[in-house]
Amino acid sequence: MHNSKIIKVALVGQPNVGKSMLINSLSNARLKVGNFSGVTVTKEEVFLEYKNYQIQIIDLPGAYSLNDYTIEEKVTKEFLDNSAYDIILNVLDSTNLQRNLLLTAELLALDKKMIIALNMIDEAIKESIQVDEQQLSKILGKPCIKTSAAKKIGIKKLLDEIVTKYESEKLPTKLFYSDVIEEEIETISTLFKECNFKTTQTYRQLAIKLLKEDKQTYKQFHDEPIWIKLQAVLAESFEHLYIHFGTKNIEEIFNDEKFAFAKGAFTETVKQKSIEHKTITEKIDSLLIHKFFGLPIFLFLMWGLFQLTFEIGNIPMDLIDAFFATIINSTKNILGDNQISSIIADGAIAGVGSVILFLPNIVILFFGIALLETTGYMSRVAFLLDGFFHKFGLHGKSFIPLVTGFGCSVPAYMAARTLKNERDRLLTLFIIGFMSCGARLPIYVLFVGAFFNEQNAGNILFLIYISGAILGLFAAKILKIIVFKSEDEPFVMEMPKYRVPSFKLIWHTVSNQALMYLKKAGTYILAASLLIWFASNYPKHLDAEESYNQKIELAQNEEEKQNLQNELTLYNLENSYLGYVGKFSEPLFEPLGFDWRMSVALETGLAAKEIVVSTLSILYGLGDANDETSESLKEKIVNNIPLASAISFIVFVMIYLPCLAASMVFTKEAGGWKYLGYLFTFTTVTAWIVSFIVYNLSKYFIG
Ligand code: GDP
Repeated sequence: MHNSKIIKVALVGQPNVGKSMLINSLSNARLKVGNFSGVTVTKEEVFLEYKNYQIQIIDLPGAYSLNDYTIEEKVTKEFLDNSAYDIILNVLDSTNLQRNLLLTAELLALDKKMIIALNMIDEAIKESIQVDEQQLSKILGKPCIKTSAAKKIGIKKLLDEIVTKYESEKLPTKLFYSDVIEEEIETISTLFKECNFKTTQTYRQLAIKLLKEDKQTYKQFHDEPIWIKLQAVLAESFEHLYIHFGTKNIEEIFNDEKFAFAKGAFTETVKQKSIEHKTITEKIDSLLIHKFFGLPIFLFLMWGLFQLTFEIGNIPMDLIDAFFATIINSTKNILGDNQISSIIADGAIAGVGSVILFLPNIVILFFGIALLETTGYMSRVAFLLDGFFHKFGLHGKSFIPLVTGFGCSVPAYMAARTLKNERDRLLTLFIIGFMSCGARLPIYVLFVGAFFNEQNAGNILFLIYISGAILGLFAAKILKIIVFKSEDEPFVMEMPKYRVPSFKLIWHTVSNQALMYLKKAGTYILAASLLIWFASNYPKHLDAEESYNQKIELAQNEEEKQNLQNELTLYNLENSYLGYVGKFSEPLFEPLGFDWRMSVALETGLAAKEIVVSTLSILYGLGDANDETSESLKEKIVNNIPLASAISFIVFVMIYLPCLAASMVFTKEAGGWKYLGYLFTFTTVTAWIVSFIVYNLSKYFIG
């Protein structure tokens, strides 16, 4: 058959996986032996005819990885990079999959059509190693076929697969790196796109090669006009990688990525009798991702974190509280009883102070999450929860964005980019808000501290966070059934090496977050506090004030005077702009047990959750004319809000729309304003319904 099409197959594998034997077991094959150009490495090629095709298989030298270290590796790498071929046939030794998958990870990065032969399957069976080749095919996105070159098993299937693969479209890659690297790939690709750069490779491939410091690629780019721009972008990208991985050794960074990928894919698909001599890592893993112990360990760690967040975070609280109270009092003493004094003391200082009060709690929470993340523990949990998450229509990979959401929704929304399946990603975006962010923490700490005793506070806090998370899972299930119907698309769950936590990195993350929080307090929340102060002090009602003042002057005793004074203050507050808004929306929130102040606080909280606390502080502070007994905000809350309303309020805060900044990021990540509309409707309706139920239940049980 002279005019039959040629399918060119590059046969790649680590040494001794049975490549030569595989070639030998292809009957009717014609063997051609030569050398790779310029080197004395033997090049074996076979030609065979199969189903109207000429299949040409080139046996590349065995290589552990695609480096320039040995001559074999170099030849293989150069061939794969620069020669024309249709399909990569990657041969693996089934009895040694984890190590073999390291090379597979590198081959996947080439983003070519590829088939995987799980060779020596006869040996694997003998050693009771079970390989789930269907799952492996799914997570790698490449067909995996069990073969035995020695026993001639699976050879025909392999050839069939070569033809099928050749005839079908190339599927998008399923190899992804960790977020930090993916982000840089994105940045570099964007530059290529902007410059409309012409290349035969994909932008992604080029970006990966540049990040991997591939010499040849750099040589090519040196003479390109784009180089000047590219150089600047690359310098910044590398700087990010250095900080994040705590090393300047790029090879080490990518080796670790490869390792995490291979280990993840292996752990997900291979079952073998427990190994006798486990390494320390294997011992720790077998505990942390244990079927029964894994989840309790995780919950215990999270519980511990929330205990610490409350217990240690509250130690400096009294001091900070007293500090701001002193400033407020001295401001009033110095400036006297007037509007300027009030706006500074009751508006700015009270508003900002009430937010700074919670800085210690925030720092501890962020510290804990960063610590668990950098040690590699969180990836284990993602792995552990994968099966569980699938029951709710989520993916194990959703875990990192979700857990990041406990810190702040903004990075959480961005972290959801790890999910490469569009529907999975959208679903995750929609439920990230259920993971209460750090800015909601002040509200919880305030209410929990007000209504519960010290011993239980940490537990309650943990309960709030867990309830949010569980609610999120159910919400995911519902959304999956109604909105995001799709087949589960599995991906490899990376399992990175354990690392001694780098305090530099943790410090970097935590100090950044803390500064951001302070900055928010000093700008955004300051402005909001001033606005709220204004809206709660104006318009002035001079007539009413006058008539009250007359009555006060005529009052018989101190008590009556005080009562009238209180009435006046309340009258002013209820007839302020904020009062109008509150009164207007009160009917909507009344069934949930909220008075108009709480309603307003929730509304201002749409801008930022910390403002809920500032608003409550300003509103209850102003309403409280009894200035001599300056109660703390906590006491004011207890005196003004029934427990059932407080619980219902916590639930509402737990569920409703994240802050303005997060909503903007959500809109961008989800891809349009309509999604924000959906999110707003979804969260508000859910929050209302759940709060309503919780309010009535609490009223029933605790009165
Ligand atoms: P290469 O380095 O990848 O070309 O590997 P070879 O083809 O030279 O095979 C290495 C060793 O593994 C040889 O001793 C083969 O006999 C043996 N081998 C190759 N394939 C299989 C197989 O499928 N099953 C078993 N049991 N042994 C195999």
